[in-house]
Parts: sequence; C-alpha cells; structure tokens
Amino acid sequence: MKFETRALHIGEEPNLSEGGSGDVVSPIHLTSTFARNKIDEPPKGYEYSRSANPTRDALEKRLASLENGKYGIAFASGLAATATVILSLMKAGDHMIAFDDLYGGTRRLFTMLFKENFNIDVSYVDARKAENIADAVKGKTRLIWLETPTNPLLKMCDIRSIASIAWDKKIFLAVDNTFMTPYFQLPLDLGADLVVHSTTKYLNGHSDSVGGAVVTSDDHIHDKIRFNQNAAGAILSPFDSYMILRGTKTLSLRMERHEKNALAIARYLENHDKIERVFYPGLESHPQHQLAKKQMSGYGGMVSFELKTDLERARAFVEGLKLFTLAESLGCVESLVELPALMTHSSIPPEEREKTGIKDSLIRTSVGIENIDDLLDDLTQSLKAI
Ligand SMILES: *Cc1c(COP(=O)(O)O)cnc(C)c1O
Repeated sequence: MKFETRALHIGEEPNLSEGGSGDVVSPIHLTSTFARNKIDEPPKGYEYSRSANPTRDALEKRLASLENGKYGIAFASGLAATATVILSLMKAGDHMIAFDDLYGGTRRLFTMLFKENFNIDVSYVDARKAENIADAVKGKTRLIWLETPTNPLLKMCDIRSIASIAWDKKIFLAVDNTFMTPYFQLPLDLGADLVVHSTTKYLNGHSDSVGGAVVTSDDHIHDKIRFNQNAAGAILSPFDSYMILRGTKTLSLRMERHEKNALAIARYLENHDKIERVFYPGLESHPQHQLAKKQMSGYGGMVSFELKTDLERARAFVEGLKLFTLAESLGCVESLVELPALMTHSSIPPEEREKTGIKDSLIRTSVGIENIDDLLDDLTQSLKAI
C-alpha cells in the first residue's frame, strides 16, 4: 500500500470477527486496567494501560508503517520520547554528538539535565559537513542526534553520509523527523537507527494535542525503549492516541498545502526590500537546495527570515501580524509566527545563538493551510507598518 492509503488503514482495521463490533475508527480505550479469567491468561496481552493500550497500539502500528519501520512507540510528548531514548541508549560518562542548531528544548534537555546531572558528554557540531561529525567521534561516543532541516535556520545534513559514519564506528544514529514528517523524508530508509517525533506538530496537525513518538526497526533498540517507557512511564494517553490517528489521515493533504503556501511566501519575502535573507530549502538560493532535492520529496512548511532591522522592530513586525498567530509551536493548520531570540531559543546564551546564526531579527513562521492571498496580505501590511 502507498503512503496515503497506509495513513488511513494501518492500525485501524475493523474487527469483523465474532464479538468484534466492526468499528471503522479505533475506539478510545479509556480503561486503566484489563480483567482476566485466570492469573496466567491476560486478555490479548493487555494488563495495564501504562504497559500497553489498544488505542495506543493502533497509533504505534500506524506510525511505524508511515516511517517504514517495524516498531512505533508513542510518548506523552516529543521531549518525553527524546529523554527515554537517551535513558535507553546512554550511560553516565558516555558521549554523544548533536547538530548545533537543534530544537531549543532538546538542547536544554541534553545540556541542563543529561550533561549537568548525569555526566553525559555532548558535542554540538555543524553537521552540514559530515566530516565534522566524524571528527567529533571519541572512544565513548554512543549516539549521534540530528534534526534536518533544523530549527529555526533550516540547515540540513546528509543523513545517508552520516549514517555510514555511524555504521562504521558502531554508533547509534537518531533523527528528529518532526519538520519533514515521513511524508517528505524517511530517515530509516537513509540508514538511521531510530526516528523521533514531536507528534504535537504536523502528525497531529491541529494544535490540540501534545505527544511524541519513536520509530525503529531494530529489535534490541525497541526492546530497551519499550521496557524503559513502561519503567519510567512517559506514555501517550488513549485520547491523544486517537487524536493523532485522526491527524495522520490528512497528513499528505496538509503537507502538500503547507508546502505550496510556504514556497509562495518564501518567494514573496525573497523579493521584498525590507527582508535581508530567507531560509527555505525549496528556494534555489538555499545553500543546500541540491541536498534537499535529493534527500526529501518536498520542502515542508517552515520558513524563517531576517528583517533588515533590529530586535524592537522585529518585535513590532510579529506583533503587527493579524492572521499569523504569535505563538510557539509549529506544524498546525493555522499559520504561526515567533521571534526565536525572545521565545523558542531564549534559553540558549546570546553568544551561542549568535554563533549558530540566530540573529535578533530572525523570524520563524510555520505556514498554515489558509488561502495564500490572505497570508501574503497580512505579511505585506505588517512589513509596511515597520
Ligand atoms: C516541538 C519539538 C520537539 C519537542 O516536542 P514536544 O512535543 O514539545 O515535547 C522536538 N523536536 C522538534 C523539532 C520540535 O519541533
């Protein structure tokens, strides 16, 4: 089955056998526990909903299928998924390598929690050059953590090249695929060991659920993460599992529209005289446009740009937008805008921010699926006002 078909049918096959009710949509199994006839015979393997739940199972099957993986594991948030991966693959004293332009919360988790409290050493490198990853490998390097394209500068790294370095040195490779979704990018097919998601973003897509996921085809990695998820407890609720199942059904349609609108906005901004630079992988001017064409089947809905002005006018610009909602988060049907220096990336020290290229006048937009004319009108009026 092709992607769009799997997004509708995998995990939600109607139960037409005797006693089955034939539900077309997976019921929300709110039960916390499962009765059994005999001590040694838990019904269908379910015992307690922290360990497994039928609605969560349905979602996990679907996510695994969409990422071309064997196992999906659904978490309470993207960061719960990330934290459980680190707890499962790393020990105190181990070393990991991460892209230096990560989601702010991921970096906070790695540095302020795992590094400070648990002595897990992290090197942040510019992964646009795969050699930088190879150069950072030490004796105790266990894991490489990538995002591509990154947040908020839309930098990319070559998953296939880095996977071959990881394979060579027997290091795990994890890719946060939140920005592209499996509709546009399949990291497992390119050699990654595991894919991580904040389902809060495109997979759910409607700004009404927080969740996360890990997908892998490796039995050993799966067993460890599954065991630790149950041990530490960061599971996704049955209700949110249902929400994300529903979200995935329209993922392909939404991603197509996100991309169409994002490309139109990127081209408009690129030709505007108050704009210094536009970051979008679909623009020919993006320094890694060729890699984007090779590695992804689309360019996504995230567009960042620098205004030719200072922080205060950048603030006035985002506050002057009427249709773009001023909010953190991304990947939902409505368009969002934010100022990384004061919002999502404010926990990164200013010198570090400057070093990775996050200027004070950098604006990040998550382009929604509204009519493009209305979005362009809104950008025009707020640019005019500053
Ligand atoms: C939002 C996000 C996360 C964190 O996910 P939560 O669901 O907010 O915990 C991780 N990575 C990326 C790329 C994100 O956008």
